Amino acid sequence: MMDPTYEEADHLIEAVIGDATGPTLIVMGSLHGNEPAGANALEQIADRLVSVTEKVAGRVYLLRGNSRALQKAVRYIDGDLNRAWTSKNLAAVGTDELKQSSEGVELTELDQQLDSILITAASEVYVLDLHSTSATGPLFATVGDTLRNREFAKKFPVNILLGIEEQLEGTMLEYLNNAGAVTLGFEGGSHFSPETVANHTALVWLALVNTGLLKPADVPDLEEHFLRLAEGAKGPRFIEIRYREAITPEDEFQMRPGFNNFDLVEEGSVLAYSTRGPIKAPETGMIVMPLYQKLGEDGFFIARSIAPFWLWLSRLLRRTKAYRLMPLLPGVKRDPAAETTLIINTRLARFFPLQIFHLLGFRKLRWTEHQLVVSRRKHDTVSPFVSGTTN
Ligand SMILES: [Zn+2]
Repeated sequence: MMDPTYEEADHLIEAVIGDATGPTLIVMGSLHGNEPAGANALEQIADRLVSVTEKVAGRVYLLRGNSRALQKAVRYIDGDLNRAWTSKNLAAVGTDELKQSSEGVELTELDQQLDSILITAASEVYVLDLHSTSATGPLFATVGDTLRNREFAKKFPVNILLGIEEQLEGTMLEYLNNAGAVTLGFEGGSHFSPETVANHTALVWLALVNTGLLKPADVPDLEEHFLRLAEGAKGPRFIEIRYREAITPEDEFQMRPGFNNFDLVEEGSVLAYSTRGPIKAPETGMIVMPLYQKLGEDGFFIARSIAPFWLWLSRLLRRTKAYRLMPLLPGVKRDPAAETTLIINTRLARFFPLQIFHLLGFRKLRWTEHQLVVSRRKHDTVSPFVSGTTN
């Protein structure tokens, strides 16, 4: 590890404020300490961006994620910082209990930093979260499925995976989605490749234009950045999780070796084994997040491209608030404790898979054997940061 040029707790790489009343772009790099490419890219971007401050039609904040883990070149010290943004932890910000872990301290620092940015926003807020992977694979964006996020993601020439963060508890972007920001996660390549730094850099310059913060003419190598990302994108544009293999420890689930994200699998091919016997692909599609490491409740997911028709239909259904009719259906009831939450008895409502609820703008909260609990995504169509708009 080279001599770090920053101290622990030093999260702000640069703040560039050309117009305090314009939109805000927050870019997070290296939320995982073993992914230096994100912060490296932002350090390189900072100087150039500062030199064009007067052209920036809003506010840009370039942030370093897990500062302590990054110095040690480890993913995290006590726990994954990108699983720490739970309501329980956020309620405990500032307490000694949270500060006992390294990531509790990081979370406290970052939360305060983000709060101070969000609270002073006078217009739309966009957040990018830059990540990398241990193996090489296609570049892709991970997008929480709100209509606002989709519209933003469409401006980038990359594959878009919708709704994967609902499978993960406590991600930073899910927290910021719920706070009303437009968010986009980005997997920019393998951890230590110079290509990954270049991919992250390209994404950020495109984002500066796509948010309206810079004019295309103010980014001389814009086309080069666009082509770089377009080159790294392969296959279908929008991808959605269609099937989840639910497992329990008693299953002794064992994935067959050799699967990578987005590998095509045929219906009926054997993907894994358990005490119940071989587990076959229920449909043809792409395999996503095959479980090789620790035990979890999800063995693998099958994803498929989403046709433009479905994207159009879900936009229509959400804008017309069709979700309000769902509690009228058999097996679907509203949670008496939470108005935007539905409890689905999957024995009765077996014809309403998770996909239908996604279409209507719901997010999975829990999925046990016979019960699916989903909640309407907040801020699906309307920004809380932009005045003059109503829901
Ligand atoms: Zn990561």
